[in-house]
Amino acid sequence: MTESRLQTARVWGLLGGGRCQRFRGNHLEAKNRLRVGTLGWALVAFWVQVIGVAPSWVPPSHAETTRALDEVTERAWDFGKTPVALEQVDDGVWRTTGVTNAYLVEMPGGNVLIDTSLPHQAARSLELLESVMKGPLKFIVLTHAHVDHIGGAKLWLSRHPNAKVIAHEAFPAMQHNLEELAPYFARRGRMAMPNLVAAGEAMREVDPLFTYGGIEPDILIDDDEPLTLEFGDRSLEVLPMPGGEGPDGLTVWLPDQRILFTGDLTGPHFPAFPNLYSVRGERYREFLPYVRSVDRALKLEPAVIAHGHFDVIRDENFIREALMRQRDAVKFVHDQTVAGMNAGKSLPELMSEVNLPPELALSQGYGTVAWSLRGLWETYTGWFDFESTTGLYPVPVRDVYPDLVEAAGGIEPILTRAQAKLEAGRAVEALHLVEVAESVSPGSHQVLRLKRRALEILRERALAGHRNFYEVSWLDARLGEVRAALGESIEPGS
Ligand SMILES: [Zn+2]
Repeated sequence: MTESRLQTARVWGLLGGGRCQRFRGNHLEAKNRLRVGTLGWALVAFWVQVIGVAPSWVPPSHAETTRALDEVTERAWDFGKTPVALEQVDDGVWRTTGVTNAYLVEMPGGNVLIDTSLPHQAARSLELLESVMKGPLKFIVLTHAHVDHIGGAKLWLSRHPNAKVIAHEAFPAMQHNLEELAPYFARRGRMAMPNLVAAGEAMREVDPLFTYGGIEPDILIDDDEPLTLEFGDRSLEVLPMPGGEGPDGLTVWLPDQRILFTGDLTGPHFPAFPNLYSVRGERYREFLPYVRSVDRALKLEPAVIAHGHFDVIRDENFIREALMRQRDAVKFVHDQTVAGMNAGKSLPELMSEVNLPPELALSQGYGTVAWSLRGLWETYTGWFDFESTTGLYPVPVRDVYPDLVEAAGGIEPILTRAQAKLEAGRAVEALHLVEVAESVSPGSHQVLRLKRRALEILRERALAGHRNFYEVSWLDARLGEVRAALGESIEPGS
C-alpha cells in the first residue's frame, strides 16, 4: 500500500478492514477490501515514528497565519463579480473562475474534471479548460448536485462521451428532489439570486443541455468507500465528505500536491459557520456528518484548499486552524442544542441563547448559528414544538389577526404599540404588530411606513453584524416591496 493509500485508509478508519474502491486503467475493482489488521497498525506506527513522515504527510510549514479566522470579506453577492477566466492552480492543475470554480487535473494518460460551472458560464469554462487539456477527459467528478456545480456536465459529456461521471451515492436522490421541485426552488432562489436564476432559465431555452438534472453517474461513491483513481505512478482520490451543502458531498484529494478540492464542504467562503439550513429552502443538512467530514479533511493535512467558490487557499497553518474552528464550532452548537433540549429549553430560547464563544468565533455571512440550530432541532424532533395545541392544526395565528384588530378598536392602538416597540429597539416585535394591522389594511401608508422602518432597522443591524447574505437579501426584497407600495423610487443597491 502506498503512503497516500495508507493516509486515506487512516482518515477513513479503513485499516481494520474497511472498504475502498480502486480504479486502474479501464477496470473498476469495486468494493475492494483493504485488510491490514494488527500488522498494519504496527507498520503504520513504525513508518511514522522511525522512517518518518510520508511525503504527503509533511508537517506544515511555519508560515505565519495572517488572516483572522472569524471574518471574511467575500459574500455570495460577489459571486457574479468574478469573470470566467482561466488560472493555473499548480503543476497540471487548472481552474476556471466565475460564480463557481471548475478544476481540471492533468494526470498521466488522461484528465479529471472537478465540477462543471453554472449553465450560463459552462460553455466559456469548457472552452478555456479544453485549451490547456492534453489527452482525453477520463472522469468528471461532481462534488454535489447543486446547479452551480453540475450545470455544464451534460455539455462536457456531449463533447467527451467516454468520460465517466463520478458522484456520491446520495447524488441521484438529491438531483431528483431538486429536479421535481425545480419551479418551487426557482421561485425561492430568485429572492437572493435573481440574476443567476434568470440566466439559468435563459440558457435552458437556448439549449436543453442546460436543463437541470438528467445526469446518470457511472460510478457512485458510498460514504465508507473512497475511490482511488490510478494513473500510472500517480493517483487521485475521490473522498466522500457529506454534510456541507447536503448528504451528497464529494471531495477530491491530490496526494502528491496535497491539494484538497472541497466543493462546498467548507464554503462558499472560508472559513465560516456552514449553511446547515438555507433559507432559500432545501432539506436540512446534518451537523454530525459535517463534523466527521471536516475532521477527515483536517487529517489529510492539506497544503492547498481549492474551493467551489472564490479563491484557492494556500496557507496550510491557516487551513488547519480554520478547519479545526469549523469542526469545533459546529460540534459546540450541536452539543449545546442537545443539552438545551434535554434541559427543557424551547427552540426560541435556544436560538437566542446559543452563540459561539470567542475562541470558536466564525463568520456567519452565509449560514447562521440560529437558523442551523433550528434545523438541527427539527431534524432531531420534527416540527411540532409541543407547546401550543394550535400547532397541530392548519390554522395559523395570522388567521385571527383581524379579530385582534377589531377587539383593539382598529389598527391605531396596534400601530401605536408598534411605534413604541420600534423606539425601544424591538424591531421584530414591532414587525409582529405591524403584520396584525396589515391583515386588515395592507395598503395603509401608516402601516407601510412603520413596516419600512422596522425592516430598515433589521437591515442596519444585519449589515453591522454578520452581513449575512440571505438575511440582507431577504430584507432588501421586502423593503423593495414596501417602497414600491409607498410609491418611492428604489435605488439599486441602496
Ligand atoms: Zn456552490
